[in-house]
Amino acid sequence: MYDWLIVGAGYAGSTLAERLASQRGERVLLIDRRDHIGGNAYDHPDEAGILIHKYGPHIFHTNSERIFQHLSQFTEWRPYEHRVLAKVDGKLVPIPINLDTVNTLYGLDLTSEELVEWFAQRAEPVEEVRTSEDVVISAVGRELYEKFFRGYTRKQWGLDPSELDKSVTARVPTRTNRDDRYFGDTFQAMPKDGYTRMFERMLDHPNIEIRTGTEYADVKDAVPHRRLIFTGPIDDYFGFRFGKLPYRSLKFRHETLDQEWLQPVAVVNYPQTEDYTRVTEYKHLTGQEHPKTAVTYEYPSAEGDPYYPIPRPENAELFKKYEALADAQDEVWFVGRLATYRYYNMDQIVGQALATFDRIQERLPLAA
Ligand code: FAD
Ligand code: UDP
Repeated sequence: MYDWLIVGAGYAGSTLAERLASQRGERVLLIDRRDHIGGNAYDHPDEAGILIHKYGPHIFHTNSERIFQHLSQFTEWRPYEHRVLAKVDGKLVPIPINLDTVNTLYGLDLTSEELVEWFAQRAEPVEEVRTSEDVVISAVGRELYEKFFRGYTRKQWGLDPSELDKSVTARVPTRTNRDDRYFGDTFQAMPKDGYTRMFERMLDHPNIEIRTGTEYADVKDAVPHRRLIFTGPIDDYFGFRFGKLPYRSLKFRHETLDQEWLQPVAVVNYPQTEDYTRVTEYKHLTGQEHPKTAVTYEYPSAEGDPYYPIPRPENAELFKKYEALADAQDEVWFVGRLATYRYYNMDQIVGQALATFDRIQERLPLAA
């Protein structure tokens, strides 16, 4: 008899497995339908031995010291600040839009103060910032919105920015200085030996049994367990009772190239051209030295594995119906990006899992 069956070996499931095993001494069976642990953060060597991310580029960043320290039990870090360029009007320019972006694109020599004024002249006042279009046009105006955001967003989501919550494009700030880092967080680093190695260390505990290549439906009745943690899609768990929750998918084209480098930074975004959204070159992220290079092209798709919940009001409504079912389940906890239908980064999922663990401790105190 297992104390816990945990479905999904990504951040949500693995963080909880480790806590339950090490802090409560409970027996955990952790399953994943994929043939590996790590969920979407899984990395592995490609045919040439270059470390790549199977499900697209994963860059760790957080403002939470607690979350950073928690993961630091399982990995050392390589300091890394992420930088992204966008191919706009034939030029490679920094995104988030900053002083250099505008000066390069328009052949100007503005100062930061002048750029504030330049944006103010172009920004379109919006009564209530509600959508992903509002966020950008109210900050930088329609022209830069169209160059950097409209096409990329339509490709990535299959929706116009006006149909998406503001939270989506609000992930990308606008700057008036020359800071060209993609993230502004206090902690920015990559796990020194990769994500998979970090998960292996996290799950290396005698109370944790791992079964990959295992589908929940195939074991739920066969494996005796007292409680369940589910980190897969919540609509799937409830048999799509209220209809399918939309998730956006991606197809990844991984290539190993017979050249040392392809591009000047880890990620280049394509908001105006190409069918793919972005190209990632991993050696920039990992610091690995190799005469060849490995890259991934991301092609957004409606079909395929669920990667992104789609933040818009009608989807939030549908999710609430599933959430109400979830709340009524006593011995089942729903955690993670797919089970809580939240567009969360890795650190936020770790935070959510640690908060769930605290709730479990409150609800199910261990006998003294
Ligand atoms: P997942 O990693 O999706 O794990 C859920 C697991 O459950 C999966 O492995 C799945 O196979 C398994 N599962 C589902 N249903 C079943 C079932 N019925 N039976 C058995 N197993 C099941 N975050 C960042 O912080 N920085 C980044 O740079 C970043 N880049 C990203 C790039 C892409 C392309 C994507 C898609 C995401 C990115 N993220 C990034 C987000 C990050 O991937 C997630 O926050 C994190 O992986 C979510 O962890 P999770 O455990 O909730 O879900
Ligand atoms: N975005 C854009 N152009 C860019 C970068 C981002 O339009 O060059 C928008 C797009 O809608 C994207 C969202 O901002 O989905 C969030 O970008 P982020 O890089 O955070 O996406 P993720 O890494 O989660 O795919």
